[in-house]
Amino acid sequence: MQELSKSDDDQICEVCGDRIVDNGPGISWIIHDWTCGRCGKHVCFGCGGHSPGLGYGKEDSEKYGDICLECYWELRESYAGKWESEFGNDASFDNPYELGEDDRELRERIRKGGAESDD
Ligand SMILES: [Zn+2]
Ligand SMILES: [Zn+2]
Repeated sequence: MQELSKSDDDQICEVCGDRIVDNGPGISWIIHDWTCGRCGKHVCFGCGGHSPGLGYGKEDSEKYGDICLECYWELRESYAGKWESEFGNDASFDNPYELGEDDRELRERIRKGGAESDD
């Protein structure tokens, strides 16, 4: 094992802005952070490790592997649009790719109060 001097600044989740908690030596087998396979962001446990899922997401899932929440939502949105144009007119059930209320709330919260980006 190599001793790395890492600053706290490196341990901030790039999606929600929370500190990425290092569990310390001994329990390092617990995943505490992720690197998004799509945008490359370094994110906390809660914000990473998502999969685009089945259906339209299958290809992206193979391409990107685990992705962050922001990418997940972004992809879901594009799938929802795809689904809508394909099945929206005669569907007897709701769009399976549409974000739930909880997802939307969380997304809003992260957008407003989350990590400041300079885009
Ligand atoms: Zn996070
Ligand atoms: Zn991402």
